[in-house]
Amino acid sequence: MKSKETLASGIDLASERGAVEVRAVSKRYGQTEAVRPTSLSIQSGQFATLLGPSGSGKTTLLKMIAGFEEPSSGAILIGHQDVTHVAPQKRNVGFVFQQYALFPHMTVAGNLAYPLEMRGMPRRDINHAVGEALEMVRLSQLANRRPSDLSGGQQQRVALARAVIFRPPVLLMDESLAALDKRLREEMQIEVRNLQRELKITTIAVTHDQTEALVMSDVIFVINEGAVQQVGKPADLYYRPENEFVAGFLGESNVLHGHIELGVGEPELVLPSGMRLPIEAPAAAIGTSAVCMIRPEAIDLSPFPADRPPKLRGQVVQRIFCGDTFRVTLRMSDGTLLLSKPIGGNSRWLPDAGEEAQVSWHPSELTLISHPTKGTRA
Ligand code: ADP
Repeated sequence: MKSKETLASGIDLASERGAVEVRAVSKRYGQTEAVRPTSLSIQSGQFATLLGPSGSGKTTLLKMIAGFEEPSSGAILIGHQDVTHVAPQKRNVGFVFQQYALFPHMTVAGNLAYPLEMRGMPRRDINHAVGEALEMVRLSQLANRRPSDLSGGQQQRVALARAVIFRPPVLLMDESLAALDKRLREEMQIEVRNLQRELKITTIAVTHDQTEALVMSDVIFVINEGAVQQVGKPADLYYRPENEFVAGFLGESNVLHGHIELGVGEPELVLPSGMRLPIEAPAAAIGTSAVCMIRPEAIDLSPFPADRPPKLRGQVVQRIFCGDTFRVTLRMSDGTLLLSKPIGGNSRWLPDAGEEAQVSWHPSELTLISHPTKGTRA
């Protein structure tokens, strides 16, 4: 039997309260098209990140989901209800911003109680909820402090607790970890993620920090110039970028243009210089032009073999020690520059600047990122 909260389509509203849908939404400011017609679908309970460079339109998109900006066109649905013209406070959505916007004259407990007082909750229930929220973010000892007497990380945790204390199905975060120093930011990424999973709250976060997006998200929307470039799970976007922008923005990459030929039984990427590189490519790609990518950490460096010449050789232009990795820039025999990032370690063989190494990789690491077009050779 269908419950009262079941739509004709069979959608169970109770478990779908956190579903967010953006349908062909756009935003113009005069001549600026901040967001081009964009559609996103975020499932209830997912952690979604809008990732893009500064000015790409991600904050405008988040503000429209929050209700702080009105779309120029399109519709926004939360829990399958059209909220396009609903005021922010009526959307049942929690927010955390970079500037935590805590009330400076109220204690931590007072800040947490505020959203519940606004909703007319009885005092006993408020006290109970505030106690629970303080425990959730490990701040029970600091209930009577004022925000100015807290560290940045503690203020951030209060802001987070306040945003979710009224149990909204959706939480929106705008660069909310950006002001924290690196170590604290990394700790908070894990903490926020754990809390989000525990509460099963749909979360949409805006960031320009690709590592943060990779660490925290179930799904990432990569945005550039007001449009979604690619949608996917972190690992899919990292290993299978669909265009050069995504390849370059999410992690570091070596992008190579050429065409695919059949070498000695195996496909090869042939660069304009004539250099041939091992690649795994489908039969349909043979004879087509291609844009390919290889991640720096997939490029191995080893001494020249004793019994035969190296298949590929590179001279070290620059070698930088980064602690857990090295950054080694190589000039290949045709002049192509490649970045390799071998992991650190005392016992590892690595050539010095000016020295040569054999350069190799597993063919599957060189990935096609643009769909090849037959006959148009580079
Ligand atoms: P992001 O969050 O990715 O940095 P924004 O969404 O803030 O990008 O901005 C996208 C574009 O819209 C930028 O070109 C920005 O200058 C413009 N923009 C944003 N808000 C306004 C506004 N209130 N008035 C005019 N232009 C705006």
